[in-house]
Amino acid sequence: MIFVKEAKMSTKSIWAGEKEQLAFGATQVPVVHSVSFGYDDMDEWYDVAVGAKPGHIYGRNTNPTVQAFEDKIRILEGAEAATSFSTGMAAISNTLSTYLFPGDRVVSIKDTYGGTNKIFTEFLPKQQVEVVLCETGDHELIEEEIAKGCKVLYLESPTNPTVKITDIKRMAEAGKTAGALVIVDNTFATPVNQNPLELGADLVIHSATKFLGGHADALGGAVCGRKELIEPIYHYREINGATLDPMAAYLLLRGMKTLKLRVDQQNKNAAAIAEYLKSFDEVEAVFYPGLPEHPHHQTAKEQMRGFGGMLSFSVEGGVAGVRDLLPKLNYANRAANLGSVETVVGPSRTTSHVECTPEERAAMGIPEGLIRYSAGIEDIEDLKADLAQAFQSMKTYVNP
Ligand SMILES: *Cc1c(COP(=O)(O)O)cnc(C)c1O
Repeated sequence: MIFVKEAKMSTKSIWAGEKEQLAFGATQVPVVHSVSFGYDDMDEWYDVAVGAKPGHIYGRNTNPTVQAFEDKIRILEGAEAATSFSTGMAAISNTLSTYLFPGDRVVSIKDTYGGTNKIFTEFLPKQQVEVVLCETGDHELIEEEIAKGCKVLYLESPTNPTVKITDIKRMAEAGKTAGALVIVDNTFATPVNQNPLELGADLVIHSATKFLGGHADALGGAVCGRKELIEPIYHYREINGATLDPMAAYLLLRGMKTLKLRVDQQNKNAAAIAEYLKSFDEVEAVFYPGLPEHPHHQTAKEQMRGFGGMLSFSVEGGVAGVRDLLPKLNYANRAANLGSVETVVGPSRTTSHVECTPEERAAMGIPEGLIRYSAGIEDIEDLKADLAQAFQSMKTYVNP
């Protein structure tokens, strides 16, 4: 569909990938709950099975509802090809497993998503893959490590929970020079705010569980890029089996229709909350790439169209302060997910960095009183009033 290619983000998020899968004159993509797809014509069956003809064979490989989801995210990221997964972590682990072998070297940053970090520190070393994790934002150091040679350069921007920014264009150039495959986890930014492929990345990964789905009711993942890079990943997944369920694909597709609307609102709400938080004595620090004082604000401004719906802030009193404040919020889920239409809050020591010791968290610049705030799409005046009443009834803490 030509018009989708030329269309703007909101039009794409509504129309892309849908028409090709419609049946019976229905205007909505069906949830095709069928494990297999039958053929009366043996030759046709064979042709589809060997990929000479389009069609579906078995649900672990492909499915029409899942294909609509893959097409939608592929078009939103401006990619040639895409494949999907049961979760974001499946997308990450399957992609890394497709391309990393014993003796290979991967360069990444310290602030990747907790699960990704576990792959780097726990699983890949067992497979004799050398992992180098650099200080996030130290571009010179990352460049030095890339130049020493690496098979994969793995980035995430903005990061969890202190929303640090990596210059994707600059790092992708360094990666290319070293012959590395450049992978970017774009979960926090979403295609609305950032398209890593345009900035030089080879592959872009999403946890569709978060902003893409947007309603915290379905798990999923995706990876997009050039056809020749996606095909081996698809093959790894179709054999190893981390397939996206058709019902989850449907929920994600339905959520993605409002992606642009939601993310625009979340960008606005997060920016307003970040600014508002600075006015409270109880707040020690606010981390949001849209704030001019954020150390990576300039890079964020250059590579992002919006600064995202994620921010974090630390409160006085550390753990006690968090324990006091968070239960007082009315319009927020206290939970581990993010990117949903509802505002979601949680302490980093309980969510993204629960596996770390307080010392490790301190070394990563994560105060014990740090709260991750995923802005929802509620009315900003209500969110501000909610924070105000919560701070007002908070006890006074004196930091040591
Ligand atoms: C949540 C998340 C993941 C993992 O996704 P799941 O769908 O939970 O497996 C990966 N990367 C980032 C940045 C995330 O926020």
